[in-house]
Amino acid sequence: MRQPLVAGNWKLNGSLASSTTLVEGIKAGLADAGNVAVAVCPPFVYLPHVRALLEGSSVSLGAQDVADVDEGAYTGEVSAPMLKEVGCGYVIVGHSERRALYGESDEFTARKFAAARKHGLTPILCVGELLEEREQGVTEQVVARQLDAVIELEGVQALADAVVAYEPVWAIGTGKTASPAQAQDVHAFIRGRIAERDAGVADKVQILYGGSVKPDNAEELFSQADIDGGLIGGASLQAEDFLAICKAAG
Ligand code: PEP
Repeated sequence: MRQPLVAGNWKLNGSLASSTTLVEGIKAGLADAGNVAVAVCPPFVYLPHVRALLEGSSVSLGAQDVADVDEGAYTGEVSAPMLKEVGCGYVIVGHSERRALYGESDEFTARKFAAARKHGLTPILCVGELLEEREQGVTEQVVARQLDAVIELEGVQALADAVVAYEPVWAIGTGKTASPAQAQDVHAFIRGRIAERDAGVADKVQILYGGSVKPDNAEELFSQADIDGGLIGGASLQAEDFLAICKAAG
């Protein structure tokens, strides 16, 4: 039985003050959420601050990105050992905004995934198709390509202690959600593709859905057989909404 996971991706939002309010709000309501693992992914600079606020709570800390190398002349980068040192348990890799706005390729994302695992961080590997790719009927090919880049570099076993987030790009921040059936189809495809290589890994890997998850659509999405929780953007910035989504998963 896979434990559900809900992770909040705060993106480029917030301040010291607003992250304090948000984390205190999440902590105050978490007891009602049930059996769900919860993580928050603030901007890099707020990680130590949020870690201190989370002390003694069950909420995990995650980062939104990681360098593919551990150290050196890479101005502006933040490495996996650094994230580990400040208390991160998770790191998002290959978010569609990184892929689209910063040109991050499948191979580069796979190297980030490897760097995270090497230092004991759990990567949350984002995969998902563009609207035109869905319209062309190539969703499965796109998702398979993104997933296979990681499997080729790290082997399928690497997914046993990782998280995959299926995030159709057309649903991110747009208010358009994949229907539960559309999401389940792709989740089942992802699990099936992993199962072709290793059924045990496929059974274990948590596959999250992301893309305009809100309190009013979370429960139906999370009730699908292969959806193990969510990666939440906009709705993770309000404690009340985020908690309602955690509760739907728990
Ligand atoms: C995301 O950025 O990972 C995301 C799912 O965003 P939103 O929930 O705002 O669509």
